[in-house]
Amino acid sequence: MKDRLQELENDALAAIGDAESTASLQDIRVAFLGKKGAVTDIMKGMRDLAPDERPAVGALVNSLKESLEKAFSSRNSALQQAAVDERISSEKIDVSLPGRQSFSGSKHPVTLVTEELVEIFGKLGFCVAEGPEIEKDFYNFEALNIPKDHPARDMQDTFYVSDDLVMRTHTSPVQIRSMLKQEPPLRVIAPGTVYRRDSDITHSPMFHQIEGFLVDKNVSFGDLKGILTHFLTSYFGDKLGVRFRPSFFPFTEPSAEVDIACVICSAKGCRVCKGTGWLEILGCGMIDPEVFKSVNYDAEQFSGFAFGMGIERIAMLKYGVSDLRLFFENDLRFLRQF
Ligand SMILES: [Zn+2]
Repeated sequence: MKDRLQELENDALAAIGDAESTASLQDIRVAFLGKKGAVTDIMKGMRDLAPDERPAVGALVNSLKESLEKAFSSRNSALQQAAVDERISSEKIDVSLPGRQSFSGSKHPVTLVTEELVEIFGKLGFCVAEGPEIEKDFYNFEALNIPKDHPARDMQDTFYVSDDLVMRTHTSPVQIRSMLKQEPPLRVIAPGTVYRRDSDITHSPMFHQIEGFLVDKNVSFGDLKGILTHFLTSYFGDKLGVRFRPSFFPFTEPSAEVDIACVICSAKGCRVCKGTGWLEILGCGMIDPEVFKSVNYDAEQFSGFAFGMGIERIAMLKYGVSDLRLFFENDLRFLRQF
């Protein structure tokens, strides 16, 4: 019996020493000291012993139990300490490590120019309005005095979504939507994306326009010239040469195109201005009474002007960019310069 108890103690101590977690240690404890454990079995077997043998064996079993309890408890503290140590070392923060570098982005030049233009017109009392990029034929053409079969529809190289829906070819439909919503007086600036079937060094199938218009009583062509000249000189510089040339648009009458003195060569003549010293910058005019008819404005009582320009074109001139496609290629070397 003594040998058997010794063997049991050796087995138990070896198992305790090998336990790698408090959970597995607990399993071992149950296997030896639990209700159905090996030591408990021996104690149950004691009733088969001769009465005079019992006290000696009982003492041996008790000392075995005591020694095992001690071993369990010290192994348990060791394992708990090891777990704490491991957690501390895994959560340690090395304050001497260099930080992770974060890259801050910059605004896209088209966004930048849009914001600058909106700000200038904002100071003149113009509010921003927006409209959908897939537009009804009515808003994109019909209401702007461009009926079906009008040659201006060919001029605009339209993407048709269906017979009645187009990718808007200009931001002018926002004029119609705003005027249908609100009675004059009205000062609106409408930046946005527009689409045309066109792609080369100065054209992209998707580009950005900014549309502006003002409707009130007694608005004259003089107001139009004053506001646009103020805008152009605020944006490109005080001494900028500006000229208005007669032109034609279906939705304005009279219409004009505005040129500025070439900002690349200071009007001396270069490749960009094709040697003329002038650059075409925007189209404008007094809103055609036909347009007022489609939004139920009284053309006898109100008058107004409208203008529109390509945002990429302005950005190209402002920053001396020679190829419009650069704006859409997402090359960081280009975009980081702004
Ligand atoms: Zn030039």
